[in-house]
Amino acid sequence: MRKKLLLGNWKMNKLASEAKEFAIASKPLVALAKSNKIELGVAPTYMSLATVRKYSAKAMIVAAQNVHFEEKGAFTGEVSIPMLKEFKINWVILGHSERRTYDNETSEKCNAKMKALIANDMIPVYCCGETLAQFEAGETKAVVKEQIEKGFEGISEEQAKKCVVAYEPIWSIGTGKNASTEIAQDVCKYIRKVLKGVVGKAASKIRILYGGSVKPENIKAYLSCPDVDGALVGGASLKIDSYEGLLKNIL
Ligand code: PEP
Repeated sequence: MRKKLLLGNWKMNKLASEAKEFAIASKPLVALAKSNKIELGVAPTYMSLATVRKYSAKAMIVAAQNVHFEEKGAFTGEVSIPMLKEFKINWVILGHSERRTYDNETSEKCNAKMKALIANDMIPVYCCGETLAQFEAGETKAVVKEQIEKGFEGISEEQAKKCVVAYEPIWSIGTGKNASTEIAQDVCKYIRKVLKGVVGKAASKIRILYGGSVKPENIKAYLSCPDVDGALVGGASLKIDSYEGLLKNIL
């Protein structure tokens, strides 16, 4: 049984003071989620990770939005896995489309990060998804297949179990043009099939999230799809009322 997961991606938003306010306010929500066997999390900027970890409930998942695969060294501007671990940050989003677009984050690079995270007993949330042009050209499945195969290359069945995948059609991120539940289910089911080819039986344990203009009003429909195990939410995760709405609508 795959536990439902609701993860907010704050992108480059919120000062640490604002993140602290959210973290404190989220405490009762985490308790409510826990009693309904749902996992809740947020991915703040590096600057707010320690604050959110400190002021939120223990069961709140606090994820970084990126990490470097090397432990230390001459990588100006980067943050390493030990630096995250020092602050008890054990989850990391990898390969978000914004990082793939603006920061040259490739599936190969994500694979190195996946391996480094797994070696450190941490959990990657590996994002995949197609552009509008690829969607319109009917290339969605070919694109996600390549991203999944490259991202999970060399990862064993045992190691893959705890990994999380997020399917985020790029044309639906921050646009209000969310994919239909039929598309979300069809692609997530296909991703599970591709995962089976790469990591075998672990595919049935890996949680696959849908992301792209998820709101309190539409989240329930996505989470009713058999292969959608949760949501990665940008805009609608920023305000505590809306975050609460996301949770309450899937209880
Ligand atoms: C995201 O940033 O991963 C995302 C899905 O954003 P939004 O919910 O705003 O579309």
